[in-house]
Amino acid sequence: MFSYTLHATDGAARAGTIATAHGDVPTPSFMAVGTAGTVKAMTADAVRATGARVVLGNTYHLMLRPTAERVASLGGLHKMMDWPGPILTDSGGFQVMSLAKLRKMDEAGVTFRSHLDGSAHFLSPERSTEIQHLLDATISMVLDECTPHPATYDEAASSMALTHRWAVRSRAAFQPRAGYAQFGIVQGSTYEVLRRDAAATLAAQNFEGYAIGGLAVGEGQDTMFAMLDITAPCLPAQKPRYLMGVGTPDDLLGSVARGVDMFDCVMPTRAGRTARAFTSHGIFNLRNARFIDDAGPLDEACPCLCCARHSRAYLHHLFRCEEMLGPILLTTHNLTYYQSLMQGARAAILAGRFETYYATTRAGWADG
Ligand SMILES: [Zn+2]
Repeated sequence: MFSYTLHATDGAARAGTIATAHGDVPTPSFMAVGTAGTVKAMTADAVRATGARVVLGNTYHLMLRPTAERVASLGGLHKMMDWPGPILTDSGGFQVMSLAKLRKMDEAGVTFRSHLDGSAHFLSPERSTEIQHLLDATISMVLDECTPHPATYDEAASSMALTHRWAVRSRAAFQPRAGYAQFGIVQGSTYEVLRRDAAATLAAQNFEGYAIGGLAVGEGQDTMFAMLDITAPCLPAQKPRYLMGVGTPDDLLGSVARGVDMFDCVMPTRAGRTARAFTSHGIFNLRNARFIDDAGPLDEACPCLCCARHSRAYLHHLFRCEEMLGPILLTTHNLTYYQSLMQGARAAILAGRFETYYATTRAGWADG
């Protein structure tokens, strides 16, 4: 069975466990983004060593290459990428809108041309759900429209209504299996009344979990937090809550404080490939000349391979020489740091001292 058990709350922050067909996930949880069936620069063993329990796959990329049918014939995404743990796939909708060419969206779905070779494709709620089934996603997402920002009230309301009609169709197309889940997605832009409407409408459909979408799209952190303050209490307490595409360490802790359980973001992996490190002393750019003679570890509080074995000076050298090992080590570190942050938050919530953990961690970021 797919289930969420809430162990403790501290303010609005929650510590729980998600049980799935592919293993348990302690929450709060950060999911490593494995866009095209790989977390870039990382072996599956290396991803496991960071403490990650869930990886994310992108429907848009996988439907184009190698195709969902081919992934299925290879035994599914778990087998193909050597990740027996839980996998969450997105619906493909967000990336169709941001990457594909010649898009045409109507009630039926989205017709588009591949950004790779111009070939024509169609994505509907039914086809997106089928693709995610073929990929063998532990957690599937409904096809939604991520409302662009900014949007007028009328634009946001009509976009949300389409998302709700597509949610009904996605739910009807979903083939229930023990330990598998499908999440609905709350839209509604920056309008409180729409966010409440979306949460209530989707909650009535009894999804296994709920995502909050359409945030971190340029509205700013204060507005994002305000929308979480509105939305999270409207969602069922006994189901997991996933904030899509967020964010910085500060975004994560602020969202945990508001009742979010799950996150994904390309930030730690993408930053790792461009010499930026998230640490307990804030964000560093390892290309900076200040590190050229720095023999100390990147983050003395971090248990990862990069911090245990290598110096800041070596990392600086690797990035200056554009060696592959630089992105590998920094991705390892950044993912480990994000996992440590979530583990620390969970322990603090269970001990009833989340507020202290939040304040101490933020003070650490300011002292680097
Ligand atoms: Zn580290």
